[in-house]
Amino acid sequence: MNTEQFYPIYLKADKVTIDSRKITANDIFFAFSGENFDAATVAEKAIEQGALAVIVENKEFENSEKNIFYVPSTLEFLQQLAIHHRNQLSIPIIGLTGSNGKTTTKELIHAVLSEKYNVQYTFGNLNNHIGVPLTLLSIKPEHEMAVIEMGANHQKEIELLSNIAKPNFGYITNFGKAHLEGFGGFEGVIKGKSELYDYLKTNQQTIVVNENDPIQVEKTENYLHKITFGKESSDYQFELVSIDHFVGLKYQNEKVVSKLTGDYNFTNLCAAVSLGFHFGVDFTLIKKAIEKYTPTNMRSQIVKKDGKILVLDTYNANPSSMSASLNNFITFEGSKTIIIGDMLELGEESEKEHQDILNLAENLGFNQIITVGKQFKKVNIHSASFEKTDDLIEFLKENKIQSGNILLKASRGISLEKAIDFI
Ligand code: ATP
Ligand code: MG
Repeated sequence: MNTEQFYPIYLKADKVTIDSRKITANDIFFAFSGENFDAATVAEKAIEQGALAVIVENKEFENSEKNIFYVPSTLEFLQQLAIHHRNQLSIPIIGLTGSNGKTTTKELIHAVLSEKYNVQYTFGNLNNHIGVPLTLLSIKPEHEMAVIEMGANHQKEIELLSNIAKPNFGYITNFGKAHLEGFGGFEGVIKGKSELYDYLKTNQQTIVVNENDPIQVEKTENYLHKITFGKESSDYQFELVSIDHFVGLKYQNEKVVSKLTGDYNFTNLCAAVSLGFHFGVDFTLIKKAIEKYTPTNMRSQIVKKDGKILVLDTYNANPSSMSASLNNFITFEGSKTIIIGDMLELGEESEKEHQDILNLAENLGFNQIITVGKQFKKVNIHSASFEKTDDLIEFLKENKIQSGNILLKASRGISLEKAIDFI
């Protein structure tokens, strides 16, 4: 089976899935084989449930009469099919990468552009070598545009994803200290993320540039196809505004305030608004979209609970987003407690980075500092420190935080959100 042969079957399907639990009638199921489980074993069942076709990478389960097709690698076939589909599309595709803020920016761009177009976009955080092809394959004839999040934790990943998604527009949210281990330090992060620029330049496509970011400026110097914001000489100029810790922007005397907290979301908003302008969305509609957009799943969310204000940012953390978050939180009025958890995947620099964050927290002068995780425990000698979120919960049961503002931020692996119910 090759992609060209299979493409007509794909076009008849409702959706493509890799999760056997999510199969509904008329789907195509890509069966991956893992260490413990080969999804090919449920291929027949999938067909019985109404799947249109199943792709397996185990010849034993092949049954072309039942539309169960064998390929040497399910992953490669998925990627090739996505490339083939992408090549048939003539809609603008916007590719996003960066260390922090990809999902938020993706959602904002989607919100803004959806005011005028039918926009497909990455579901949740499906931003890797499987998620990107799946997103592309979810683009239907009725879609007029797509926004694709591309994540990476090592070199050449963005190159691969760019070659699959072939974006016409690209934006790197920022270059930060995330996934230092896989990228080989900060220089490695810059190189790895810039693979998106390399693709766009080679193919003469448009780069969205935050001209306040010296790395973005340097990397796109002398490149002609740009949409810029940030400086007076940029295509679009915005001023940061903040009302009750909600961040927004001012454009030609008009204010737009989002439901996001944290000044770092300002650039995310600027990128979305710039793209909105570029694609001719009226400012009144842009404003409406941004005011309406509500962050979910613990990204820069503010929640009021029993008279306390909780800032929930437990979705992820790395040194850049952690320091941005602390600097934002210190501006809150009233007493401030921070509960911060380990930043994972930092490799050799881990201890130093945790020490730096703790120093920053101590210097900023929060009323109470609580840390969770082994890395912080190593360096935290002055304040409360727990190895696991479960230990923190036991502590909170006995020592309820009575009032004030409380920030929760950690890497996903710390599961700090479990503690919310105990605050
Ligand atoms: P992932 O790598 O998990 O896909 P992401 O890049 O999609 O992450 P988001 O999920 O949008 O990022 O945001 C995660 C957190 O990063 C936010 O809650 C916030 O703390 C921080 N953040 C968001 N935007 C920025 C930014 N522009 N600069 C620095 N930190 C940011
Ligand atoms: Mg994301």
